[in-house]
Amino acid sequence: MNQQPRYTTLSTFMERFFPYKVQKISINAGFTCPNRDGLVGSGGCTYCNNQSFNPDYCTTEESVRAQLERGKKFFRRAQEKRAHQRGKELSENDRRMKYLAYFQAYTNTYGEQEHLVRLYQEALAVPDVVGLVIGTRPDCMPNELLDYLAQLHREKFVLVEYGVESTSDATLERINRGHSYQCAIETIQRTAQRGLPVGAHFILGLPGETREFTVNQAEIINQLPIDTLKLHQLQIIRGTAMAREFIRQRERAAQDVTYTSDYSLYSAAEYASLVVDFLEKLRPDIVVERFASSSPQALLLAPDWGLKNYEFVALVDKELRRRDSWQGKYYSPCTLT
Ligand code: SF4
Repeated sequence: MNQQPRYTTLSTFMERFFPYKVQKISINAGFTCPNRDGLVGSGGCTYCNNQSFNPDYCTTEESVRAQLERGKKFFRRAQEKRAHQRGKELSENDRRMKYLAYFQAYTNTYGEQEHLVRLYQEALAVPDVVGLVIGTRPDCMPNELLDYLAQLHREKFVLVEYGVESTSDATLERINRGHSYQCAIETIQRTAQRGLPVGAHFILGLPGETREFTVNQAEIINQLPIDTLKLHQLQIIRGTAMAREFIRQRERAAQDVTYTSDYSLYSAAEYASLVVDFLEKLRPDIVVERFASSSPQALLLAPDWGLKNYEFVALVDKELRRRDSWQGKYYSPCTLT
């Protein structure tokens, strides 16, 4: 049986840039977000609680350099533990591993350019850090900064990752994103035109979006000049505006049989099937970096799958093999005209 992944993996993309394995280390560089501080909006996106995607080893109390050094130790210890469990020494591949500084929390291009450059350079000065991954919003990327990053990318790897979340403006408005889909298209184009690798992040199953709409978004995303894609299932995180809306709808549905909530939270099996439908329509060259995420149990209201990410990836693999399918099986370059 062929056990090759049936979708384009991040490692195949990274192999184009690096002759060794690279590991991302998340950093919280102390940014805020224009959708929280009033510049674009206040209150933030309705689903957002940044605590849910900040690993324990990253805290704003430490400098960028200290966070990276801590992250390096964390991953080295994990490698040693795995090697020990196998009763072996660290492999040559593990020993040669390098790191990418992942500016992840909040909006990592939101600030004076001088300040941003200082933080990016601090990260790149850390031994064995060979590039940057910068997460940001589509409405927070001035051309001047893009020009600097494009110049930097001639010497060091730089990937810019945009939170797009949905191709529907009605959804973006409802979740209080503060930008339109057209804004995402234009910023992604400006980034790709400068030769920078570009990633995009989408949440599948946002409120009001049907399964059919969710799957068909792949055909719209195919038109974007992106290299990498992260998909997440909708998770309702405690303490967010979305959690309050979800609970209100659930309570109303319990009292009124004629009322139907427009939150359709998928079971793990349903979501794996949805992801495979989506993959079948997706452009084959787009790297699929993630299918799902797992927020800390204490923060997660629903859905509670009780699965680790690698266990969910196994479900997607299994479904692809069951269907004898693969990424792009039903991709058509001319779907949208
Ligand atoms: S843009 Fe990002 S950090 Fe800002 S509120 Fe939305 S999800 Fe949170």
